[in-house]
Amino acid sequence: MTEALTEALTEALAVALVEGDRLGELFPGIGAFLFDLDGVLTPTAELHRRAWAGTMAPFLAARAAPTAYSEDDYFRHIDGKPRFEGVAALLESRGLRLPFGSIADPPGDGSIGALGNRKNAEFARLLADGGVAPYPGTVAVLDALAGAGKRLAVVSSSKNAVPVLAAAGLIDRFELVVDGVLAAHEHLAGKPAPETYLYAAGRLGCAAGAAAVVEDAISGVEAGRAGAFGLVVGLDRGVGRAALTAAGADLVIDQLPELLAA
Ligand SMILES: [Mg+2]
Repeated sequence: MTEALTEALTEALAVALVEGDRLGELFPGIGAFLFDLDGVLTPTAELHRRAWAGTMAPFLAARAAPTAYSEDDYFRHIDGKPRFEGVAALLESRGLRLPFGSIADPPGDGSIGALGNRKNAEFARLLADGGVAPYPGTVAVLDALAGAGKRLAVVSSSKNAVPVLAAAGLIDRFELVVDGVLAAHEHLAGKPAPETYLYAAGRLGCAAGAAAVVEDAISGVEAGRAGAFGLVVGLDRGVGRAALTAAGADLVIDQLPELLAA
């Protein structure tokens, strides 16, 4: 099946489910849905990958590194790590050394901080340029949940969560965004600790047992389980059903609209 056809079918499934008059009976014990962002609502991992390539390929070429940057570098040295740790790991893989500098260094190539911030600037440029569309069916699902009276929040480790939500046209659909900026300000431990999710539920006035967590990463599902949330949904974007279940998912789905059929 082509990607376009799959997307069209997913969108159609979501619309059919929304129109199926099931809204009143959607998850009766759950008052709030707390969504991870990257990989759940938006396919932002792809943009991050391109921003890393756009930053590190020219840098390695300019330093005459023995091996050029490749996509494999992303998965081996960068994926899942905090930004500056990714830079450090990639430099180390090429035997290159830079001072750490500061996380406040302006974008450049003279320190790990500067390179990390150059990557972030590249990410912001890609976002502004081409934007990012939500996964198919996402808007219909959010509308259905909101229509059924559920409170909606985003809980993301990313410091780019707000611009990503804005670029995807989703920002107005959430009454609360707990992102990397807020987590740092409130001294909340990141996933797999449950603190950011518990903070979000608390801000919505909802007990953890009456809130659902929707996650695509093992660490996020573990956070849901550790927080004793009423429902932990694992969205399988490639991690695998078995791994998500083992991490604590009560329900594993392949596409967000399946939530409405659960
Ligand atoms: Mg994620």
